Amino acid sequence: MSIVTLIPGDGIGPEVTSAMRKVVEAAGADIQWEVAEAGAAQMDKYGTPLPQHVIDSIKKNKVAIKGPVTTPVGKGFRSINVQLRQSLDLYVNLRPVKSFKGLKSRYEDVDLVIVRENTEDLYAGIEHKIGDYGAESIKLITKPACKRIVEFAFDYAKKNNRKKVTAVHKANIMKLSDGLFLNTAREVAEENKNVEFDDLIVDAAAMNLVLNPEKYDVMVMPNLYGDILSDLCSGLVGGLGIIPGANIGKDYAVFEAVHGSAPQISGQNIANPTAEIQSAVMMLKYLGQTECAEKIENALAKVFEEGIVLTQDLGGTATTTEFTDKVISEI
Ligand code: NAD
Repeated sequence: MSIVTLIPGDGIGPEVTSAMRKVVEAAGADIQWEVAEAGAAQMDKYGTPLPQHVIDSIKKNKVAIKGPVTTPVGKGFRSINVQLRQSLDLYVNLRPVKSFKGLKSRYEDVDLVIVRENTEDLYAGIEHKIGDYGAESIKLITKPACKRIVEFAFDYAKKNNRKKVTAVHKANIMKLSDGLFLNTAREVAEENKNVEFDDLIVDAAAMNLVLNPEKYDVMVMPNLYGDILSDLCSGLVGGLGIIPGANIGKDYAVFEAVHGSAPQISGQNIANPTAEIQSAVMMLKYLGQTECAEKIENALAKVFEEGIVLTQDLGGTATTTEFTDKVISEI
């Protein structure tokens, strides 16, 4: 049995995590949940949105799954997600983007994986004001971080029978920082010649992904490009309601949908729980509960292939509850 820390989050977080939990339980997963709350609501009680007991729970259990958490814009506390990734050294953000057969979207055969560096770049939080005149944010890129993220991408490619790794960068302009990322990627590629390797400038990557997404396989990149391109990629296959994610480090892993707390639709029972459910599928595979993971994958595939019970973001009328019940009925 695995004990997993469950962080419901806020906005649509509690709705999609509760749907995920029902589906995982219906699939017979051998999991005990340890619920730990994080987010703005914890500020009054603990003086921080990410209380120490939440981090301690993840450290103890080693695996967590979370719903999205709202981050104030331009003021207030630092993103909980960024804090979690840095404090647990979750250096990989893995985002598989795959078309569902039968689900109407702009493209049919997308099957790519974004491997986003998760700890540095402009997300390192090194920024300061220059009086009233402006502000500076430092883009931090280090060789060890480049090396381990690219090595992860090659390992992932080999373990998952993928053919090609593409490094995405802007080394033509940021010759030192992105140049270091690209040169390190080339060095790692030299040691992994059984996997094809190429590189792409990030603006060209944005265009090519829209023109020919089926040409891409594993794409590895610094933090900011990964953040932006994974949302772009979610748009290729039906939107943010679909795409799962995993934050993985040497010792811990935190699974979560790519989407945010979607405050406009929260509390209405209309959010699409697929992204959170697919994050649980990734978690079950990570925990070695492959059979349960596959049961859920097959159930989702059936629901989309039938295409009758869909949430509003996918053009349907089903509520979160109706969609969840339909998935459970197919397990
Ligand atoms: P968002 O992902 O919450 O929403 C973007 C759009 O996608 C909205 O139109 C929303 O309604 C739609 N959408 C997202 N998920 C959906 C789902 N499951 N079903 C149906 N529609 C869905 O992005 P945002 O509006 O930029 O961010 C809202 C808040 O979430 C911000 O405070 C942001 O900081 C936070 N956020 C948190 C995380 C996280 O905790 N991992 C990730 C991204 C954003």
